[in-house]
Amino acid sequence: MASSYVFRNGKELLDRCKEHKMPIWEVVLNYEIQLSGKDKDYVFKMLGDRLTVMMEGIAATLDKPEMSPSKMAGKSAPIIQKVLKDWKKWENKLMMNEDAVKAMLGAIATGENNARMGVILAFPTAGAAGVLPGVIFGSRDKLKLTQDQMVKMMLTGAGIGIIVANTATLSGAAGGCQAEIGTATAMGAAALTEVRGGKPETCLHAASLSLKNMLGLVCDPIGGLVEVPCIKRNAFGAMYSFTGSDLALMGIESFVPFDEVVVALRSIGDMMSPKLRETALGGLAVSPTGLKVAKKMGLIQISTNPCSK
Ligand code: SF4
Repeated sequence: MASSYVFRNGKELLDRCKEHKMPIWEVVLNYEIQLSGKDKDYVFKMLGDRLTVMMEGIAATLDKPEMSPSKMAGKSAPIIQKVLKDWKKWENKLMMNEDAVKAMLGAIATGENNARMGVILAFPTAGAAGVLPGVIFGSRDKLKLTQDQMVKMMLTGAGIGIIVANTATLSGAAGGCQAEIGTATAMGAAALTEVRGGKPETCLHAASLSLKNMLGLVCDPIGGLVEVPCIKRNAFGAMYSFTGSDLALMGIESFVPFDEVVVALRSIGDMMSPKLRETALGGLAVSPTGLKVAKKMGLIQISTNPCSK
């Protein structure tokens, strides 16, 4: 019988890595080959094309910033870009280093590109599309990442996404923002850890450390648009990926194993009120500012919280 690369959870992923003596990215590559019937060149080319979409989306926003039709998004990327251009002036003022600021820029630029109807790569979803591009954009200069390494990061991240999709959900409507940006954060953490030489176990610790801090995060988009709070949350997600990855590489382990964190995500999502799952009926969506936007968009005719009864 041909050996299997299929995995449904973190334990099985680590088992496959051990059985085949492979890092996560390679197991995920073979999983894809096994399921799709395509070969390695095809998968690398396909992901390389998607990587181009990610990076072109960031570049498009930086080259030509624009406000979104709602006017809620579009101002942040140019501000961060200016800071980076004037880095000497800022470096002693800011706590984050230049790579972290670049990661925030990549994440926010992707979200702002999405808000103005630019092309983005949902990874794993449109709302969370900025986290991995942010992680890559922020680390590629320092780590001198090659195209192949960036594609491998996508494969490692995809492995984490597959596990969350199998065990819980990637949908904000089903599990809240913890399922979207939370998952993307875990994907980014594992990817960044592996590309820096972390073992599969270390990658899962990085993913757990990051995801644990996203648990309970609700989905409360103002006006039902993927703009506020979504876009800036991607920047925080990329920073959680950096933190989880750095801690794991230092040797810090997650007390709770990855599979248990994902089960917790699912059970929290199940307990979450539908008002906090993409309906724009709770959280920031019904803050006075959120309601003002909804009213302007013609979504509601009243100026009080519709969920208060
Ligand atoms: S708040 Fe909701 S719509 Fe926005 S990114 Fe999170 S899950 Fe997606």
